[in-house]
Amino acid sequence: MPLVLATQAPGEPEIFASVQGEGPSAGMPCTFLRLSRCNLACVWCDTAYTWHFAGDERPHRDGVEFDRKANQLTLDEAEIAARIAALGQKRLVITGGEPLLQAPALARLLELLPDVTVEIETNGTTKANPPLDIRIDQFNVSPKLAHSGNPADLALIPERLDAYATDPRAWFKFVIAAPADLDEVLALRDRYRFKRDHVFLMPEGTDSATLREREQWLAPLCVEHGFRMSDRLHIHLFGDTRGT
Ligand code: SF4
Repeated sequence: MPLVLATQAPGEPEIFASVQGEGPSAGMPCTFLRLSRCNLACVWCDTAYTWHFAGDERPHRDGVEFDRKANQLTLDEAEIAARIAALGQKRLVITGGEPLLQAPALARLLELLPDVTVEIETNGTTKANPPLDIRIDQFNVSPKLAHSGNPADLALIPERLDAYATDPRAWFKFVIAAPADLDEVLALRDRYRFKRDHVFLMPEGTDSATLREREQWLAPLCVEHGFRMSDRLHIHLFGDTRGT
């Protein structure tokens, strides 16, 4: 099976070079590969074009339903590998959507890219199969809190969170919309014993003004509880746009 990618524009796969905007490797130059499809449905998802297709009745705050044909593209692994190699970056960030839904095809893709460092962004509900897992250098795990609108039994899978919590390659990034969201993060940290310096709090927001406003109260909370804070550089640089 080939991979199902998101599109930057109809017919154009979302593969691009930029700097990582979030988390432990923020600021690093890399190539991004964005895959389509997700098993969750966050009401504030900023890549709803990867899953909120016409007929999907799960709510999203923008109320937009995307045309599947215009927003998905199926490509074989060799074509994707050639496009990634042509961008000349040493680091590859695989994102989505939920990219681990396509783990077997991703493993085949990475066989064609033996020299790249691989970072994968996941909601933490699923895992990489062994041939993919051995190629992943960094997991950016973003478990979804109640304000995402997902039922906890879908978004927070104990077996998976236990496994990521003990994996030295895993970093946790919690999207925070209000100070009260911290209570859930603290409970999860206590339950799963996340390594303290591996936990980022990141403001929810898709414009600079919202991010800046929320960072004003988020920074003191990070100081108080010993978390790291993540900005969203790409939003400040490019706004909420595809291919950035
Ligand atoms: S898990 Fe990520 S891609 Fe999926 S709906 Fe939530 S924010 Fe969007």
